[in-house]
Amino acid sequence: MKIVLLGPPGAGKGSLAGLLKEKYSLVHISTGDMLREEIKKGTPLGLEIKKLITQGALVSDELVTKLVEQRIANDPDVKKGYMLDGYPRTVKQAQDLDAILAKSNVPLDFAVNMEADGDLLLRRLTGRRVCRKCGALFHMTNKPPLKPGVCDACGGELYQRTDDNEETIKARMQVYQTSTQPIIDYYAKQHKLKIIDGNLETVDLCQSLATMMK
Ligand code: ADP
Repeated sequence: MKIVLLGPPGAGKGSLAGLLKEKYSLVHISTGDMLREEIKKGTPLGLEIKKLITQGALVSDELVTKLVEQRIANDPDVKKGYMLDGYPRTVKQAQDLDAILAKSNVPLDFAVNMEADGDLLLRRLTGRRVCRKCGALFHMTNKPPLKPGVCDACGGELYQRTDDNEETIKARMQVYQTSTQPIIDYYAKQHKLKIIDGNLETVDLCQSLATMMK
């Protein structure tokens, strides 16, 4: 199964991806994670990416498409099925993804869109903490770790993403409205769009997910 996860920052794509991985063994391909890995390497390209992510701006279509294409081609696990989280983010990327899939003759199953109220998105993102080691997600008030600053799952250190501050979040939301929102129409026209309410918390999300996968 091949799925695209759509929705503004904080809508719950990461949480949904966690459930899809656990329940359906789909591989989680997150372009945000891949770009943050590139930053960690400290290369000139990594520095350039860091500048853009810190501003809340998008990295070039060519670069992210290359990363996704390489991952799909080289990771043997993706054959079992995968979900794309954070890609495509522009109509050009959606077209490029269709071209990549057409080459291997395996079409996308569907795209799922998650939308949530603006205030909720902001609260989720400013309170979000991520495990440096395993990527598990926490929230300072909604889902605090048992021990402050430490991941319940693997004991790794929790950190706040540099783009999870109010100013950058506003820029990311703006970019989402102008560049990413049009993709929803793109998939609706292909009759491939499903919707999950991003205002839901995890328990209800599990139920919506089961309905969606039927
Ligand atoms: P979120 O969905 O919470 O905004 P991500 O981890 O998906 O977070 O992305 C973080 C940042 O990485 C984005 O704001 C953007 O700068 C960059 N990025 C991720 N995916 C893409 C993409 N497909 N195209 C361009 N830039 C991207």
